[in-house]
Amino acid sequence: MQSIPLIAIDIDKTIWFGEKWEDFGYAKSYLEMGLSDRYAIASLNLLSKKYKIAYVTGRRKFPPDFFNFYPRGIPFLKPSRLYYTPEWKRTAFKRLQQQYDVRYFFDDRDDNLAVAKELGIKGIKITRKEDWIPIYDWAWKEVLQSSYNQNHSFL
Ligand SMILES: [Mg+2]
Repeated sequence: MQSIPLIAIDIDKTIWFGEKWEDFGYAKSYLEMGLSDRYAIASLNLLSKKYKIAYVTGRRKFPPDFFNFYPRGIPFLKPSRLYYTPEWKRTAFKRLQQQYDVRYFFDDRDDNLAVAKELGIKGIKITRKEDWIPIYDWAWKEVLQSSYNQNHSFL
């Protein structure tokens, strides 16, 4: 079992709910975002203190200002439109599992979540922005329980 814990996460309809995939609305301004978008951003930034992050997406590139808001992570961008996305994600998970303890996968689609489950990865289904509100509390619990914070007195 690999020991470095990792969270894999989809982008579209999971952390980004825009209509056009190339139009990353977050790039406009943080202040224009709704509260739920901010929960998604805050949750992922919190979780990145305990977990390595990997972006496992059917996209072929990141939105322009993505990393102004979301933590750096291992990119798994689909190389071609021709790949079937769940199979592409399977390839990504298998590669990640060689190096990391892949604990969770966040996605909006059952077919992608089913592939993760087959590989022993717990799926968290997101279907609307508001789903991030309870996840934000969970993220705090995760981070407060981590050995990192037990060894540091600032909290
Ligand atoms: Mg998606």
